Amino acid sequence: MAEPRNHGPSRHTSSPVLTWPEGSRIAFVAMAAALVAWRPPALAAHLRWIGWASILAGGFPIFAEAAENLRARRMTMELSMTLALVCAAAIGEFFTALVITLFVLVAEALEGLTVDRGRHALAELLQVLPQTVRVRRGAGEERVGLDQVRIGDLVLVNPGGRLPVDGRVEAGHSFVDAAAITGEPVPVERQAGDWVHAGSINQTGSLDVRAERIGPDTTFGRIVAAVEQAEQTRAPIQKLADRLAGYLVYFALACAAATWLVTGNLRSTISVVIVAGACGIAAGTPLAVLGGIGRCARLGIIIKGGVYLEALGRIDTVVLDKTGTLTFGFPEVVAIEPESGHTPEAVLGCAAMAERRSEHPLGGAILRQAGVLGLAVEEPAQFQALPGQGVRALGAVGQVLVGNRTHFQAHGIAFNHPQQAGHPSATEILVALDGQPMGRVWVADRARGEARAAIQALQAMGVHTLLLTGDAAPAAAALGGELGIGGVEAGLLPEQKQERIADLRKRGRRVAMVGDGINDAPALMEAEVGIAMGSGADVTREAADVVLLGDDLMKLVEALRVARRMRKVIRQNFAGTLAVDGIGVGLAAFGWLNPLLAAFIHVASELAFILNATRLLPPHSKNNQ
Ligand code: ADP
Ligand code: MG
Repeated sequence: MAEPRNHGPSRHTSSPVLTWPEGSRIAFVAMAAALVAWRPPALAAHLRWIGWASILAGGFPIFAEAAENLRARRMTMELSMTLALVCAAAIGEFFTALVITLFVLVAEALEGLTVDRGRHALAELLQVLPQTVRVRRGAGEERVGLDQVRIGDLVLVNPGGRLPVDGRVEAGHSFVDAAAITGEPVPVERQAGDWVHAGSINQTGSLDVRAERIGPDTTFGRIVAAVEQAEQTRAPIQKLADRLAGYLVYFALACAAATWLVTGNLRSTISVVIVAGACGIAAGTPLAVLGGIGRCARLGIIIKGGVYLEALGRIDTVVLDKTGTLTFGFPEVVAIEPESGHTPEAVLGCAAMAERRSEHPLGGAILRQAGVLGLAVEEPAQFQALPGQGVRALGAVGQVLVGNRTHFQAHGIAFNHPQQAGHPSATEILVALDGQPMGRVWVADRARGEARAAIQALQAMGVHTLLLTGDAAPAAAALGGELGIGGVEAGLLPEQKQERIADLRKRGRRVAMVGDGINDAPALMEAEVGIAMGSGADVTREAADVVLLGDDLMKLVEALRVARRMRKVIRQNFAGTLAVDGIGVGLAAFGWLNPLLAAFIHVASELAFILNATRLLPPHSKNNQ
C-alpha cells in the first residue's frame, strides 16, 4: 500500500514518492501494534508504557498538526482523531489506539502522494522548456542555464528543440509548431524578421533568435503563471468543503457528548468520534479541482482558476462569436464589384491601404488578395479601427472607408445595392473613397472542421448555443444553418454583444462566451466564463478565464465534460461522507461499532473518496520532449 508510485518514463522531473520519515514511522507503528496484540509475557508488565511511547512517537505529526489547529481555532480531523486516540489509550485499548494511528498515518501519506501526483502532472506539463540554452555573446558561443539568458542575447536553436524565449528570428529558416502557445494548428514557416514564441517546437531547420522576452514575460510564461495561480486560488466549492468538514467534526463531537451522557459507555463514545470526521470532503475536493485543471491543461485548455472550472460545470448556454471562432478567421476574397468608373484593382488597392494596420481577419483577407494580385500597398498616414464596423484611413489617394453598412450609415454614405446579391454566405465589405462609394469586396470564410460536431455535442449535453456576430444577417444565417446552431443574432456591435449576454444572465441563464477578437473582450468579461481561442488577440486571451490552445472547439466540449465530472465527483464525495458519518455515528452510538471497526470505516471511506477524486487526474503523458 505504501510503495512508491511508478510514474513511467519521466526522467527529468522527480516523481512523488513516500518520504523516509513517513515510511519508517508507518512501519514503526505497525510493529508496535503487532507487539501490543501479541502480548509477549516478558513484556507484559511494560505494555502500558510501551503503548503510550509508541503512540506518542508514531503519532507525532498528527499531534503536531492538531496542536496547530487548536491554536488557529480550526476544527479538523487531526484534532478529533487525537482526542479519540488519547481516549482509547486512556481506557487501556492500546492496540486500538495504535491501529488508529496507523490508519491516519497511511491515509495522510496516500493523500499526500495523490496530491503530489496531481501537482507533478501539472509541473511536468509546464517543464517543457529546455533547461540549457546555446547563446552567442560577442564572438564566442556558450551554453548557459535557461535562467541566465538575458534580453538581447542571440539564442541558437537546433531543429527538434523547443524555443526557450520569445523573440525575433535573425538568421535561419525553419517551420515552427506553435500550437501549444498560440493555437495555430499547422507549423508555420519562420525566417529572419519573424516573431517566434517560447515553448513552440522548431521543426526543420536551425534558427538564431534575438531574445526579446524571457522567463515569465513570454506568452508561455504567462500561461504557466495562469495555471500555477489556478492551482493556488481556492474555488468556492473548496471553501464550502472546508466549512462543511469543520461542521461535521463539531457534529461528531456533539454526538459523542450525547452518547456519553445517555449511555455512559466510553467505548461507544470513542467510536462515535472516530467514525465521523468528514475528511473525505476536505481531502477529495482540492484533489478533484487540481485534477480537473491538470486534465484540462494536458488537453490544451488553460483554466485560470478553480472558480472557473466550477462555473464551467454549471454552464447551460454557450454564446459563440463567428469570425475566428466558428470560422478559421482566414477568409478569402471571393469577388470584387467596382462601381462604374473604378477598376477591381483600384478598389482592392484602396481597401488594402486602409486595412494595412488592421488586426481584423477580414483586413487580412484583403491584404492577402492584394499580395496575390501584386499590388503595391501604400502605408496610411492616418488609421482608425471601429470595432464591429470597419476602418477609416487617410492615404495619398484620399480618405478611405472600409466596412459594413452600419459603418457607412454612420458616415452618411449610401450604397444602393441590395445586400446579398449572389454571395449568400460571404461577408460584404463596402469601400468608399472621399465619401463616394467605390465598390464592394466579398469575403468568405470556412467554418472550422469540428465546429458542427462541437455544436452538436454541446446540444446533446443540454447546452443552448447562440451565435452573436457583428457580421450581416445573410452570412450569419448561412453559417448558423450549416452548423445547426440554436440561435443567430447578427449586426451586433461589441457593446450590443455584451448587453445580450448581460440580458441572458439576468434571465437566469449561466452563460459562457467564446470569442477571439479584441471586440469580443467586453462580452467575455460579461459572461460567467469567458473563453478565448488560443490564436485570438492578446487582450482577449488576457480578458478570458479559459483559453483554448490549438483553437479546437471540441476542446470546449471536453472542458465542459471535465468540469461537470469534477462537480459530480465532489457532490458524490459530499453525499458519501454525509451518509457514512450519519450511519456510522448512529451505529457507534448504539454500541454496534467498536473503536477499531470505526477507525477502519473512517479511513476506508476517506480513501475511497480520495480515490474517487484521483479519477480526474490526467493520465501520464507519453511524449515528453
Ligand atoms: P464577428 O462578430 O463575426 O467576429 P466583428 O465584430 O469582428 O465580427 O465584425 C463585424 C463586422 O464589422 C464584420 O462582419 C465587418 O462587416 C465589419 N468589420 C469589422 N472590422 C472590419 C475591418 N477591419 N474591415 C472591414 N470590415 C470590418
Ligand atoms: Mg471574431
